[in-house]
Amino acid sequence: MKTIQTVTGTITTEELGSTLMHEHLVCSSMGIATHYPQMYRSNYKEVIVGDLTAMKENGFSSLVEATPVCLGRDVKTLKEVSEETGMNIIATTGWWGCEPPYLGPSSEEQWARCFIDDLTVGCDGTDIKAGILKAAMDKDGPTEWKKKIHRAVGMAAVETGKNIFLHTYCPTETPRHQLQLLKEVGVDMNKVAVDHIPETTDLDFVKWIYDQGAWLGLDRLPCISFPGEYSVGIQTRIKFIKQMLDADMGDRILFSHDYTSATTLFDNQPEEMREYVAAQIPDRFLFLKKHVFPALADMGVDPDYLWNLTIENPKKFFEG
Ligand SMILES: [Zn+2]
Repeated sequence: MKTIQTVTGTITTEELGSTLMHEHLVCSSMGIATHYPQMYRSNYKEVIVGDLTAMKENGFSSLVEATPVCLGRDVKTLKEVSEETGMNIIATTGWWGCEPPYLGPSSEEQWARCFIDDLTVGCDGTDIKAGILKAAMDKDGPTEWKKKIHRAVGMAAVETGKNIFLHTYCPTETPRHQLQLLKEVGVDMNKVAVDHIPETTDLDFVKWIYDQGAWLGLDRLPCISFPGEYSVGIQTRIKFIKQMLDADMGDRILFSHDYTSATTLFDNQPEEMREYVAAQIPDRFLFLKKHVFPALADMGVDPDYLWNLTIENPKKFFEG
């Protein structure tokens, strides 16, 4: 039986239970939660506890908090809210897309060492350890910085045996570059999740990812978009999930929302914009259970099968 590192210690894969595989609780720019928490709404910790309590009451037991240090990771708050609510929280190391200033000459070996320390010693000067790695590439493809980060994340995964999840953009087939970089440093594709799959409707390309042996992260349910931004609509996303299930990819699906409980992006919007965002994701972290799964059930998918995927697939993913 394999153990998983959470912010409060280790649990077994049996104890994971129903798991949301890519969510954010505290998310901003680097250092904001720890240095300028006043940039968040004053009650943001209560909001997070409210969200976690609702998840728990609806049968979820665990979540991957997908915020690495460059998006303002705050492991002390994660530990606090996990203890208060009993939800298992797996913290993230690795990097999101942003290239930080003055770090161009740093080496992939140095970065791998930093990520390994987060996984084995503790994050942000604490003994709270991360449990999973993240790397990110978007429409702009493999820049020098992103190649370095992917290789470093891959090296850390190989050394520690931890899993990786990827921020990506499927319409430009960006995962081709990412999986290649990880393969070059010896990463087992069975330990890699390619997230944000619902941004595409290209079933052949998703099948290509599946055939590499990687996992398929169905988050961005729905995608929060601001006025004027284009995104694939929620009904199209749900129909695409049905197509994936019909194509027998259910054994590799990892469900989630990629929603954020407290973020300075939403917190500092005018009230009408906050209402606009909230209207796109009624029931917040329960959107999947209360809206996506019932819609799939209307298309003939057994709801028990769907719920079971939120338990069995994360377990298999972490067991490798
Ligand atoms: Zn995310």
